[in-house]
Amino acid sequence: MQPKINKKICIGCGTCVAVCPAGVFEIRNDKSEVVNPSLCIGCKSCILNCPEGAISFKKK
Ligand code: SF4
Ligand code: SF4
Repeated sequence: MQPKINKKICIGCGTCVAVCPAGVFEIRNDKSEVVNPSLCIGCKSCILNCPEGAISFKKK
């Protein structure tokens, strides 16, 4: 599994960057971007903590 950002919903708050233990996200142009999808360990912290519900998972 790897995370996917809905950029129409993301407000660029940086919470996903802060809570991800694997460094999967970076803020670029005021939106979160998945920069290291292969590092995801599937802990779901990002999904649980995103205030906008902008993160979902897709199968690799
Ligand atoms: S936590 Fe959600 S709203 Fe905040 S930057 Fe990440 S994806 Fe965007
Ligand atoms: S599930 Fe966990 S490891 Fe994967 S992107 Fe979200 S916070 Fe990072």
